[in-house]
Amino acid sequence: MYDWAQGWAQGNSMWPLPFGTACCAIEFMSIVSSHYDLARHGAEVVRFSPRQADLMIVAGTIVDKLAPTLKRVYEQMAEPKWVISMGVCASTGGFYRAYHVMQGIDEIVPVDVYVPGCPPNPEGLYYAILKLREEVLKRRMKGEEPGVDF
Ligand code: SF4
Repeated sequence: MYDWAQGWAQGNSMWPLPFGTACCAIEFMSIVSSHYDLARHGAEVVRFSPRQADLMIVAGTIVDKLAPTLKRVYEQMAEPKWVISMGVCASTGGFYRAYHVMQGIDEIVPVDVYVPGCPPNPEGLYYAILKLREEVLKRRMKGEEPGVDF
C-alpha cells in the first residue's frame, strides 16, 4: 500500500526542469499552456532550480562545451529523478554530425524516455510524461527504486 501511494504521488507530481537550448524548447512551452494543460497530471510546476525539480527535460542541441553544465545540473537534482530526452538533437545529435556536438545526452546522464522527432510534437512529449508516470508507479509496485534507467 505504501509503495503504491508513493508511486502514485511521485508519478502525479513531477516538477519539470526544462533544459532548453534550441527549437525543441518552444514545443515544450506548448504543453504547459492551456491547450494541452499539463496541470491535469500535476506536472505544470516548471522549476529552473535543480533542487526543486525531479524531471529534467532536455530540449535541444547540446554542444560539448555545455555538457559539463548539463551533468552538474542533473547531479544537483535530488533522488528520485528522471530525464526525458526530447528530440533527435538531444537523443543523438540529430543532423549535427559535428565535432563539437554531443551525439546523445545519454553519454553523460541516464535517460529514462526518448522522444523522437524534429521537433517532437507536444503530444509526443505528453505521451512520454504519461509513460514515465506509469513506469514510476509500476516500479514502486514491484518494490524497485523508480529513479533508475528504464
Ligand atoms: S530536434 Fe529539431 S527542433 Fe529539436 S532542437 Fe534539434 S533541430 Fe531543433
